[in-house]
Amino acid sequence: MQLHKVERRYAQGEATLDILRGADLGLWPGQSVALIAPSGAGKSTLLHLAGLLEHPDAGEIYVGNLPTAHMDDAERTALRRVEIGFVYQFHHLLPEFSAVENVMLPQMIRGLDSAEARSRSAELLTFLGLGKRLDHRPGALSGGEQQRVAIARAVANTPRVLLADEPTGNLDPRTADLVFGALSEIVRASGLAALVATHNMELARRMDRRVTLRDGLLVELD
Ligand code: ADP
Repeated sequence: MQLHKVERRYAQGEATLDILRGADLGLWPGQSVALIAPSGAGKSTLLHLAGLLEHPDAGEIYVGNLPTAHMDDAERTALRRVEIGFVYQFHHLLPEFSAVENVMLPQMIRGLDSAEARSRSAELLTFLGLGKRLDHRPGALSGGEQQRVAIARAVANTPRVLLADEPTGNLDPRTADLVFGALSEIVRASGLAALVATHNMELARRMDRRVTLRDGLLVELD
């Protein structure tokens, strides 16, 4: 994914907030990038734009070689379903469905039959160390287990890009470490490009690159 001179501003009363002022970023297959910036700097805005949930006011966002800025909502939704996975701070799993069913759903929405979706989901959850938890509902899983199910769900349709907003922010340090390990393994094994907003410097240091937002631009750290 490439962000090219991306701009985003919000009107606030009479004033205009220039959140992104021409941000450039390249995300490459198999690479994880930590996004570290203070609250209010524009991390969520950037993730929403990269996730094709919002339109940039100017600039271009390429998924693979495909420019997306001109696309309408339906086109962007279709592309998002195939190419982009999201992990949030709170897992948002469906409580009435088991772990394996939560991972199956996005695949079935995409048209896979349930037997195939089940077998792929079980394989993915087993890879993430949850082979014995397939039929547990989210309420019967620990916080770290729930978050690993959310990671499995995000990558179930083999997207090109994984976007994560504070994915370990709600976990104790040991569990955060475990979940982060799972995320890194998936990135390397599947050749995903991952952008992970985090306040956890220790985890950020273990990613391939670190970037921050400064005056509406993305700046490489280190
Ligand atoms: P971060 O995720 O780094 O905390 P955000 O991207 O959520 O930052 O927000 C960046 C700035 O943009 C904040 O000052 C926020 O108040 C403002 N902002 C975000 N979304 C909107 C919106 N829809 N309308 C107006 N202002 C917004």
